[in-house]
Amino acid sequence: MSPATQDFYETLGVKKSASTDDIKKAYRKLARKHHPDLNPGDKSAEKRFKEINEAYEVLSDSKKKTEYDQFGTSAFNGSQGFGAGGFGGGGAEDIFSDLFGNFRHEQSSLKGADLATQLDISLEEAYNGVTKSITLTREVQCKTCSGTGAESSNTCSSCKGSGSVKQSRGIFRLSQPCPACRGRGRIITKSCKTCRGNGSTVATETIKVKIPPGANTGSRVKLRGMGGIGSQGSPSGDLYIELTVKPHPMFKRDGNHIYVEVPVTIVEAILGGKIKVPTLDGPVTMTLPPGTDSGKKFRLKGKGIPNKKTGISGDEFALIKIVVPKKVSKKAKAALEEIEKAYKE
Ligand SMILES: [Zn+2]
Ligand SMILES: [Zn+2]
Repeated sequence: MSPATQDFYETLGVKKSASTDDIKKAYRKLARKHHPDLNPGDKSAEKRFKEINEAYEVLSDSKKKTEYDQFGTSAFNGSQGFGAGGFGGGGAEDIFSDLFGNFRHEQSSLKGADLATQLDISLEEAYNGVTKSITLTREVQCKTCSGTGAESSNTCSSCKGSGSVKQSRGIFRLSQPCPACRGRGRIITKSCKTCRGNGSTVATETIKVKIPPGANTGSRVKLRGMGGIGSQGSPSGDLYIELTVKPHPMFKRDGNHIYVEVPVTIVEAILGGKIKVPTLDGPVTMTLPPGTDSGKKFRLKGKGIPNKKTGISGDEFALIKIVVPKKVSKKAKAALEEIEKAYKE
């Protein structure tokens, strides 16, 4: 609302003696400058735009202008039915062409909020892919009233059920959500008992989340329409499941490659032979060449984690670690002394 003290002539920047044409010119110039479509999010421009329209509404109408010149703004306060609804949602058809851009903006703001939740999975689950059940407590559309909030309702008489009204304001024709029914097109005569007229209820449900192979910490799974509920029949937001892959006691992950330490005996290291190497797919047998040093790395191609998009797997690297017995028998000691000679050679 404009303050009661608003001087309509000052608002439009014209003299009291200005002609209808001058007033119209001044109005058009200011309306273009302060139009909300051209100043998105600028509250002061929006306020100015309202004031300009109020001023023009009065000064462009000779009867209203005469009343205003006699009694000032007190003749008009609160009686015009505009100002309260706001201009932000409309467009000015005869000057601006971006009506529909604005309309779309308004629609999207009714869409439900996007929500996020955390989910831990094991490395094996990341490797194979997994379907997890999660329990969610969230707002859902009331089943009793299908989200309308009404047990019974009548067609809104203001908009005849269309949900929007057109108003002439000066040279503008504005389409706005109907204030009487808040754009619903219907007036609730009896609220739904289940949701007390909210149109939504809180429900706890268990849903299945399918996680494809190749997930990593930070990967997100989008569940369309499982987020916050939309208002006035608009779609719900989405739910994002943010994954954390828990550390594994044996396998270390680096991107899609897997690292694993493989303990071998001194004898295996010296003589070589077949050893078992654990992989995410189960143990595999690998041939260790004779004379393998501790810390030597063997690549098992394609035994890593698959790439989510390409499906091509990383590799596994087996790091050989020679483990030394803490206690040895006399016989073993003698044999080891023989080995010691081999080093000298
Ligand atoms: Zn209901
Ligand atoms: Zn209505």
